[in-house]
Amino acid sequence: MSDYTAPTQDMLFVIDEIASLKSITSLPVFEEATADLVEAVLEQAGILANEVFSPLNQPGDEHGTFIENDVVVSPPGFAEAYRQFVDNGWQGIGKSTAIGGQGLPFLVHSAVAEMWYSSNMAFALCPLLTSGAIEAIETHANIDLQNRYLPRMISGEWSGTMNLTEPQAGTDLAAIKTRAERDGDHYRIRGQKIFITWGEHEMSDNIVHMVLARLPDAPEGVKGISLFLVPKFLVNEDGSKGERNDLKLVSLESKMGIHSSPTCVMSYGDQEGAIGYLVGEENNGIACMFTMMNNARLEVGMQGVAISERAYQRAVLFAKERVQGVARGRQQRSTIIHHPDVRRMLMQMRAICQAGRALAYYASAQTDLAHHAATEEDRKIHQSRVDLIIPIVKGWCTEMSQEVTYIGVQVHGGMGFIEETGAAQYMRDARILTIYEGTTGIQALDLMGRKMLRDKGRAMGELIAELKAFNRELVDAEGDLATLGSCFTPALAALEEATDWYLQNSAADPDLGSAIGVDFMMLAGNVICAWLMGRAAVAAQKHIDAGSNDNYYPHKINTALFFVEHILPRSQAQLVMVKSGSASIMSIDADSF
Ligand SMILES: Cc1cc2nc3c(=O)[nH]c(=O)nc-3n(C[C@H](O)[C@H](O)[C@H](O)COP(=O)(O)OP(=O)(O)OC[C@H]3O[C@@H](n4cnc5c(N)ncnc54)[C@H](O)[C@@H]3O)c2cc1C
Repeated sequence: MSDYTAPTQDMLFVIDEIASLKSITSLPVFEEATADLVEAVLEQAGILANEVFSPLNQPGDEHGTFIENDVVVSPPGFAEAYRQFVDNGWQGIGKSTAIGGQGLPFLVHSAVAEMWYSSNMAFALCPLLTSGAIEAIETHANIDLQNRYLPRMISGEWSGTMNLTEPQAGTDLAAIKTRAERDGDHYRIRGQKIFITWGEHEMSDNIVHMVLARLPDAPEGVKGISLFLVPKFLVNEDGSKGERNDLKLVSLESKMGIHSSPTCVMSYGDQEGAIGYLVGEENNGIACMFTMMNNARLEVGMQGVAISERAYQRAVLFAKERVQGVARGRQQRSTIIHHPDVRRMLMQMRAICQAGRALAYYASAQTDLAHHAATEEDRKIHQSRVDLIIPIVKGWCTEMSQEVTYIGVQVHGGMGFIEETGAAQYMRDARILTIYEGTTGIQALDLMGRKMLRDKGRAMGELIAELKAFNRELVDAEGDLATLGSCFTPALAALEEATDWYLQNSAADPDLGSAIGVDFMMLAGNVICAWLMGRAAVAAQKHIDAGSNDNYYPHKINTALFFVEHILPRSQAQLVMVKSGSASIMSIDADSF
């Protein structure tokens, strides 16, 4: 039985009111993406997520993946579910029509992806990786490679992977050792990659690996890394599937969560060398990967929202069923949802889910505008906002998913610790999110360095100015909206003070960005989410004022109030932590630990 139902009403509300779908569909490139079409797409995706992917989630976790006769055995039902995904054209919904996609906004893709990740995150990693590989090929590969590989990848018949990590090269890609040697019109790739998600499986007919490797004459460090397309099966000139390439699965990792996604150790070129094709320029592989990084990080942030949503729904179901104690004002033993502390936990989960959704969808909409806004100047403005907030989306949404899935277990009491309820699986599955696609510490470094110091705080200053203007609206409003404003004012001041303090002190202390970056990033995430929840409350109030009787709107305002009253105050503590600097973090020398 599935314990997940896609929260379509909240998704559509956020798409309309926070991500401003209209500002995107008014762009010529998206003129066919009407509100009705978007609703229909979400409805169909919801059916697939609720009825097909979700019921496979827990059995998939129990079954895991293993190797039998050199073949990766996926959990029962996965191959059929993947076939349904492919047959209905879901792989290409956000890809441009020029390359055979359906040309819908990235915003719509993100909402649909949230459903895939909530219903079955381990399964949905396969299409996610394919999507990243498509983006790399579309942006950087030559036309021949594009023609040969993209159509079958966009249809989903062929899946894709990202091969960056090696035993000695995780965060530090400069240490990559996999070698590539020129051999006529292609290259021969030799080396070992670890932790490759869906690196080998039988769900798709071919697997297109995007592999980072180093040429013999390449400069040291990240400036000497190139990107190669290395297919499992070579592809003939007429596009048909050719011989098996010289690459193989060595083993599968046994891991804490996402059990049904095979995490592979891959070996390239044990015999004559795996045939690979250069994507982009030689020695420019890291730059090629960087062009995909924003979307990939946003996707993982979305996974944080999605797994939180699922944990929340699971906890609500349990809290409505489990009878324990007599709640105040009741004559008989009552379900635990009537106890204020359980209610607090559920509200905390709910508020973080909705705030994270607002943040991730807002970032997705900004991504659409950064690519397609009418003028170069507008595109630059939106790109600058995307660049600033992506590490916050990834860092905040995934760190908060740890909290939400942890609370999900707590709501279940002892049963949360027992695998049967599924709450433990969400906590285990969520744990990878703060690690892959750049750890939380690396997101913070990106924010404090590239995104704040490089432009001397300009992009952050522009964001703060926008938040201040909105806050004036709240403060001048009445009732709940004014309460939102009075809670938001000190938090916004804390973000401004932390920003100024960091910009003034970073030059004197080179450790500062890394030492207090995560605290700063979480402060920024709390304040930006409060802004978006405040905007949601204002929009909900308009629906109420227009005569709507739908409970969704007052509940939205209440959830925003909970966020600013019970989560946002953390920003004051985070300001103190930021301003405490690096001294007590760095004073004890490494040998003394
Ligand atoms: C289940 C799973 C799936 C994965 N899928 C893929 C995949 O499909 N393709 C792929 O290429 N990789 C994949 N990875 C690898 C993943 O991206 C790396 O694990 C991640 O980048 C971290 O690298 P690492 O494990 O070597 O940790 P390390 O780099 O050793 O980091 C250890 C700790 O040190 C910190 N740290 C490291 N360097 C710095 C620094 N300069 N400043 C501050 N702190 C630092 C980190 O934040 C972390 O807390 C996957 C990993 C897992 C577990």
